[in-house]
Amino acid sequence: MIETQALGKRYGDFVAVDGITFKVEPGQVLGFLGPNGAGKSTTMKMIAGFLAPTSGSARVCGFDVEEQSLEARRVVGYLPEGAPSYGEMDVRQFLEFIADAREVPANLRNKRIDDAIDRLNLESVLQQPIDTLSKGFKRRVGLAQAILHDPKVLILDEPTDGLDPNQKHEVRTLINAMARDKTIIVSTHVLEEVHAVCHRAIIIARGRVLADATPAELESRSRYHQAVSLTATDVKAAKEALSRVPDVASIEVDAQDGRITAFPKPGRQIFVAVNAALQERSIVVRELALEGGRLDEVFRSITQGGAATEARA
Ligand code: ADP
Repeated sequence: MIETQALGKRYGDFVAVDGITFKVEPGQVLGFLGPNGAGKSTTMKMIAGFLAPTSGSARVCGFDVEEQSLEARRVVGYLPEGAPSYGEMDVRQFLEFIADAREVPANLRNKRIDDAIDRLNLESVLQQPIDTLSKGFKRRVGLAQAILHDPKVLILDEPTDGLDPNQKHEVRTLINAMARDKTIIVSTHVLEEVHAVCHRAIIIARGRVLADATPAELESRSRYHQAVSLTATDVKAAKEALSRVPDVASIEVDAQDGRITAFPKPGRQIFVAVNAALQERSIVVRELALEGGRLDEVFRSITQGGAATEARA
């Protein structure tokens, strides 16, 4: 559905996107992660047909974004960063304008507009000029225009940026619902979003792909993967008990909240043995948790890790 081949973009001498290759299968939601300036927006703009690549190629639904640009743009819905243009139009006028620009057939026009208004909860602001809307509403108007022509492919640049927690939840639910019959790329720097909506995540930094994996695979690269953390009344006694579990490699105590984390030796599982060791010594534990892995830590080590991490990815 979406395919890039060594896609690249230079601005003068500066390489913003440095040969990115990936595929997204139908029905997948791909998360695009990376620090600010990594090249996410530039890549998305090229796939959406809003910016010409300087090297490589991109195809959506089989159409080359440069050679068959009209066909390609027809099957793509794109939410750019920031607020929609045409800020002096009110929301309804803007959606009607986009429906016409997108050549939505006359018999479907009103239904599609009403559907988008409904899905993004825009009813209360229909008569308001876009410029006067809050950041959250502007984002939702942007999303409404992206889905108006019912595209097969959606490219969403930071769709939850500027939304409050309830609105974020609504937009994530909407993305999940749309994933049933669309292929979607979502860029984000909010890591919880990866869990909430993505089947797969690509981490990019300095214009290059550093990792391409499922959220679970990324978490399994965390040093916290399969670690056991707990809080206990008697920290010293708990540490002592943990240190006697053969497969525990190291123990750390958080200086702020006193939480103890036991890290396993590579490939080992320690939850059952830790539990048994604590019970054996009658240590009172308030919380005991098996860690899945911490995405923020993986993200940091991949994007700041330099050449060694790149080679492993
Ligand atoms: P991201 O979306 O990951 O934050 P961008 O794709 O917006 O990153 O930008 C990637 C890099 O390209 C940044 O260093 C940015 O400053 C640079 N860049 C983006 N647009 C332009 C432009 N029109 N001219 C020059 N440099 C640009």
